Amino acid sequence: MRFRASGLFLLFLVLLSPGRLFAETDHKIYFADTDYELHVFEIKGEYPGNTMLIIGGMHNEPGGYLSADLYADFSLHQGNLIVVPRANFPVIISNNRKIHSDMNRKFVNGTHRKSSHEYEESVVEILKQLMARSDVLLNLHDGSGYYRPTYESRMKNPLRWGQCIITDTDTFVTPGGRTLALGERVQRILSIINPDIRNGEHRFHYNNTRTFDNDSPHKEQRGSATYYALTEYGIEAYGIETSKEIRSLDLKVRYQSMIINAFMKDFGILPNNPKVQIQKPQLQYLLISVNGAFPYGVPNRKTLFVNPGDTIRIEHIAANYERGLVADILGLGSLNDLNKKFSVSQPTTILVKKDRFECGKIFLAMKSPPVKSSLSTAAAMEPQKSSLPPEKGVLEFLILVNNDLKKIPSGGTLVIDPEDTLVIQDIRPRPADPNKVKVNFVGFVGNKRFNDAEDRGYRIHPQDLWKRHSKNREGNLYRIEANRGETLIGEVNVRIETLGKTP
Ligand SMILES: [Zn+2]
Repeated sequence: MRFRASGLFLLFLVLLSPGRLFAETDHKIYFADTDYELHVFEIKGEYPGNTMLIIGGMHNEPGGYLSADLYADFSLHQGNLIVVPRANFPVIISNNRKIHSDMNRKFVNGTHRKSSHEYEESVVEILKQLMARSDVLLNLHDGSGYYRPTYESRMKNPLRWGQCIITDTDTFVTPGGRTLALGERVQRILSIINPDIRNGEHRFHYNNTRTFDNDSPHKEQRGSATYYALTEYGIEAYGIETSKEIRSLDLKVRYQSMIINAFMKDFGILPNNPKVQIQKPQLQYLLISVNGAFPYGVPNRKTLFVNPGDTIRIEHIAANYERGLVADILGLGSLNDLNKKFSVSQPTTILVKKDRFECGKIFLAMKSPPVKSSLSTAAAMEPQKSSLPPEKGVLEFLILVNNDLKKIPSGGTLVIDPEDTLVIQDIRPRPADPNKVKVNFVGFVGNKRFNDAEDRGYRIHPQDLWKRHSKNREGNLYRIEANRGETLIGEVNVRIETLGKTP
């Protein structure tokens, strides 16, 4: 899912709030809809502090990009994060180290740089701009073997990269005269994380590539992101490498996150746990299988047409939440009808909720007219002549009273007990576009946030009705209207009176 508008929304929040009251995330997308689409998440804490730039995915190294990705969802108490989970999306999806050239060798300036209009250069230019606004850079990778300061074996030696924290130099003096004690900070981080790593082989080491030195074993690092950040912007920059020999992705990401967390704490960047972000629940679609066939995806507020007697099963609810979702087929089953089979013979509505909040509905309609309902409605109905010409208006209203379907002709009156509950299911004939007609229980507000005069699908209790909107203002006679635009196309009365019920 995309949140192109989230920046705007958050700007709105900022304008509303005096000072910074909320932790905020601004999500920007560069090169949208290209293969190298670049997503940047800027997370501002409630209190100001250092800004850490976390870059993953310059290479096809999942320990790097999967770890960075987790931090895009952080909320911060203090300090700021700029997270680029997938700097080089083409290498990730194609699983190649490079497309045109190695992105982590493209951080060069001026005369060294031969412009070739490769996408890697465009991405690198954005990353440079992000460095300019940061206090520290973490560049996340997976490397081969295990780095060791002295030769132990073919896979464990000074030229391997796995399980190390990399600097380009032990200390660096910025043009402004500040001394950056990179090596000292790495040693402090190692002393915090290594005691928690049970497998001795996986403990991390400090790898100073001495990138400036003429006898550096890694002169190629002069084109790297860390070297550029350090020399051009005077900010601390570290490479973090988990080992490609560690097969468990979980374990690699765990190691990366231990190190990122330790760096964040060392720089005074403090998270809020858990991140609080309550979005309005919104149904996208339901997957509904009919008679056991491959399921249809039915978008919110659309209609699925079935034959009377067909068996349906709601297989999946797609919404902006994954937990707390239920689908309730009105008149059938129980509160949650997900993954259950039902034979349907009447039009009905599937109400989708997240916890107690309605987040969407799907209409079920019949392809051919249903067989006449055997349910008795006479006792609770006083048929009257419709005052509207039937060919233009609504013939009847389908209303569930305590799960019994009642068909009330337009102009008629439904009598219910104060204890009853009522759900307006639909009108007949069905309009070609169900959304063009609104069915309004005058005196009931279905959507509390926005009264859209559309009350189909809600459970209506007489005690929730607004007495002053009743027809006689005494709270015992109401009306349900069907309107196409401004035109009334049908109405029924609802009278509430205590009915002598047989037990
Ligand atoms: Zn790498």
